Amino acid sequence: MRNDLGYRGTDTVCEFCSAELDRLSEVELLTDRDLAMLRQPRRRVNANLPVRMDDGSVAVFPSFRIQYNSARGPTKGGIRYHPDVDESEVDQLAFLMALKCAVVDIPFGGAKGGVQVDPNGLSVGERERLSRAYIAEYADVIGPETDIPAPDVNTGPQVMAWMMDEYEQQTGEHAPGVITGKPLELGGSRGRTSATSFGGRVILDAFAETRGWEPTDLDVAIQGFGNVGSYLATFLHERGYNVVAVSNAQGGIYDADGLDIPAVFDGYGTEDDLFVTGEQITNDELLTLDVDVLIPAAIEDQITMSNVADLRTEAVLEMANGPTTTDADAYLADHGIPVIPDILANAGGVTTSYFEWVQNSSNEYWSKSKVQNKLEEQMQTAFEDLHEVKQAGDDRSWRQAAYIRAVDSVLDAEKFRGNISR
Ligand code: GLU
Repeated sequence: MRNDLGYRGTDTVCEFCSAELDRLSEVELLTDRDLAMLRQPRRRVNANLPVRMDDGSVAVFPSFRIQYNSARGPTKGGIRYHPDVDESEVDQLAFLMALKCAVVDIPFGGAKGGVQVDPNGLSVGERERLSRAYIAEYADVIGPETDIPAPDVNTGPQVMAWMMDEYEQQTGEHAPGVITGKPLELGGSRGRTSATSFGGRVILDAFAETRGWEPTDLDVAIQGFGNVGSYLATFLHERGYNVVAVSNAQGGIYDADGLDIPAVFDGYGTEDDLFVTGEQITNDELLTLDVDVLIPAAIEDQITMSNVADLRTEAVLEMANGPTTTDADAYLADHGIPVIPDILANAGGVTTSYFEWVQNSSNEYWSKSKVQNKLEEQMQTAFEDLHEVKQAGDDRSWRQAAYIRAVDSVLDAEKFRGNISR
């Protein structure tokens, strides 16, 4: 496929990114050069990682690191471990990271990494060797001032710790700023683990206010009970929202009067796991519950053309990355169901990663309340900015407003650098 300037380019375009940009160019004037700049990432790196397994065999896992755009700063984005990881998924997620950092106005570009692996099948030792193999392979292309990974689906503080340690062994220097989402003991930030969810709560409060909705009147269903879904359920419950359903990959639980979220949270993964009690529902049933706010907080492509017509929610808050397909999003917009997009709703994670990176560079560490106050302010400002962009156009969706603001910001940075004519 030729790009918008007629060149074939060095690489394939990102199909998802291209479709989103085409949709955006219907409402925003983008030149061919602008489009060409964003249809494909700046740099894709991939590697097959050989890892010694506990039984002595060697397994090889495909892996990726994609740096989408670095005009606004070092590239930033998580690393996921999942069997479905492939180049096009990592492209999409890296593109979303570039836009997300622009939406919340933190000085980073966007990147993403991933390994095609089912992490549940790995022992602790295998997981460590895989994490170290990843960094050994990509040490040359990441760094505190170039590209800074973080956790994503199925990776967390322990994986970040092994990765940081491996990077330091490779380079012979202390470099806590090379990765965020670390344990506190290794330079992590207070409030980072629950930050994505905290930010989501701030955004939902702000959105509810624009509608004149009271949290205590709202029924909420959350798909996904991993790091993001479980903390979000807790924050929303504390705020008085009525969390009626939660689910994990196996299925969910539902109670029209509201679930006892602290009990579900505390028992999760233990012998007292409450996922076996209450009314059992499937993930498909959860998505079509009659609620005020539906919150996909798991993985992408959950709201699609095959289920979107069955949705009975008043609004969608995207806490996962890319949970709504492009055509399903258009359907929701046509039917007047607002979707608060991922690049705003879940940006609390990367914003607190930025705070972690600032703390690492200054060697001054902040209290949890300082982190949360700064996060609240940053998310609130981003929400208000997008609200203004949304109101400035006829019938603009929240996603359009977010894309307009983010793409403009990335392209302006490219223009100041002289990479696009002004
Ligand atoms: N993986 C998270 C996201 O998708 C966090 C990224 C980061 O902190 O760099 O936003």
